[in-house]
This record gives sequence, structure tokens and C-alpha cells, in this order.
Amino acid sequence: MANVLWLQGGACSGNTISFLNAEEPTLVDLITDFGINILWHPSLGMQLGDELQELLINCINGKISIDILVFEGSVVNAPNGTGEWNRFAGRPMKDWLNDLSKVAGFVVAVGDCATYGGVPAMEPNPSESIGLQFLKRQKGGFLGDDFLSQKGFPVINIPGCPAHPDWISQILVAVATGRVGDLTLDEFHRPETFFRSFTQTGCTRNMHFSYKSSTEEFGQRTGCLFYDLGCRGPMTHSSCNRILWNRVSSKTRVGMPCLGCTEPEFPFHDLKKGTVFKTQTVMGVPRELPPGINAKDYAVVTVVSKDARPSWTDEDFFTV
Ligand code: SF4
Ligand code: SF4
Repeated sequence: MANVLWLQGGACSGNTISFLNAEEPTLVDLITDFGINILWHPSLGMQLGDELQELLINCINGKISIDILVFEGSVVNAPNGTGEWNRFAGRPMKDWLNDLSKVAGFVVAVGDCATYGGVPAMEPNPSESIGLQFLKRQKGGFLGDDFLSQKGFPVINIPGCPAHPDWISQILVAVATGRVGDLTLDEFHRPETFFRSFTQTGCTRNMHFSYKSSTEEFGQRTGCLFYDLGCRGPMTHSSCNRILWNRVSSKTRVGMPCLGCTEPEFPFHDLKKGTVFKTQTVMGVPRELPPGINAKDYAVVTVVSKDARPSWTDEDFFTV
């Protein structure tokens, strides 16, 4: 039996909703087949008030063991480092997190806010938000660069806005069943099994990408979303087109550009440059290119590819 305690900081509950929709395995599977015991969760926990406080205190003093501490949302430090803007069970959430992380077997950050600060940590960051072990690309975060959980692991990061439900449930299973050693973490503590390949891997618009055939409208069933709508699929590490959402589709399949939500810098919105749904260009070449591409070569390839473009690239294709 693995005890899981799930807490929520500066969050919109998006990752909770995502988790409750997990399909492979489902939340029920986690409990009935994989020995996970949900000690408490904001949407599932039965304890309130004094009872909840007692539960948390018993976790800290060791009467109840926490095998996995899951944190959703940013760590709120405002105002002035006190954390008073995010009080929970009688004290700042950050103080609970500080105490509970010291006794947890593993600590898992779910979603972009918990991993890297996410939307709340955007400038000017009035809530003084920070991720558990990172602030954007900078390592450290709330728990510090050297933090290791009781089982000797750094914070395991499952980014995304929200994280894909099956990324969450499968990683919880791996940790709970002692297969955590199989999880190789990258430099941003993301398990490689889900975050090594790019969102573009498996995208149904890859042929359009090669022929520089562009789509200019959301939802259009032809063309690639990179050239005009700012798709970040070639620059984003995620398995969204390999492990489909709701088992049937993905953003790019339905004509919505990838926003890069699994990368530490997310959200990429720049108030000075305008909307994220517009590819910024310099002399016709996108300002940001997929890794490894030289801008000059890219410009040449663009001309050749457009010339060689077959007529079917303008045709509607069926995506689900
Ligand atoms: S739509 Fe996005 S992910 Fe798909 S091929 Fe184009 S750039 Fe890549
Ligand atoms: S397609 Fe891109 S923005 Fe959408 S969930 Fe996947 S990584 Fe995030």
C-alpha cells in the first residue's frame, strides 16, 4: 500500500480535473489494482478543519507515512515571503509543504505551476510564486537545488497545463510499485519516457511541415500550424501526439497550435510581441526554429519545398 497525499497551492485545479479523467490506468485502477491509498486530495479527501489539520500533523510527526507527496500549483510566497496569501488548514501552505516534503518518500510536482512556476510566476509575479525545485529554467525553487526526498530522489516533475492524465497516473504507478528506478529524469526533472520526444512526433501534419504548407485558421484540417499560428510542436518535449488526449486526439490534430506547455518557460506570451498565435518572423524566416536548424539553410529549403509542394497539401484531410 502506498500512501499518496495531494496538496494544492496557487492553482486552477486543472491538474486535478486531468487526473480524475485518467484512463490508463484510471483513478479507480490506482486504488483497486495498484495499491494506492489516497490519504487526502482537495476533491476527494473527507477530512475538513481540525480533522484535516490532525491528519497533516500526524504525517509530519511520522504517525502516518507519506509515500508520495503530490503538489499541484505554484508555491505562493506573497506577501513579502510570508505565504499568507495562500493559507491552508490554519497556516501558510508553503509551511505545510516545507514540513511534509521532509518526511515524504517521493515528491511529485504536477503541472506547470508546481514544476516551474507556470502562469502565476509570470512577470511581475505579484503572488511571488515559484515551482517546487525550479523557477522557470533556474534550478532551486522552493525546496532548493539540493533537495532529495526520503528515498533519495529530487522532485519528479510532470509539467503540462494541465499535465496529461495518463502521465500522472502512470508515474504514480511507477513510483508506488517500486519501479521508480526505471524513470530517467532529464535536466528539468521530467521523466524521459514521456518528455524525450517532441510534440511533433506523431503529428498528422508532419508532411505539411516538410512541404511548408501552412494553415492560417484554427481548426483547419490541412496545413501545418508552425508557419503562421506559432505552433511550438517542433520545440516542445511532450508525448501529446503519441499518447493521445482522451485516447482520440491532440491539439495539433484538431488544428490548435501547441503552446509549449511542458517547457520551463511556459507561457511564452510576450506582451510586447503580441499574441502567441502568430509566428514571429525575420525576413520571412520564423524567429525561432526547431533545434539544430540553421536559418540560412532553412530559407533555402523553404523555397525548394514550396516549389516541390504537391497539390494534395491544400486538400482537407480527416483528423480526429
Ligand atoms: S502542426 Fe505543429 S507539431 Fe504538427 S507538424 Fe506542424 S509544427 Fe509540427
Ligand atoms: S500539445 Fe503542446 S500545449 Fe498542448 S498539452 Fe501538449 S505540450 Fe502542452
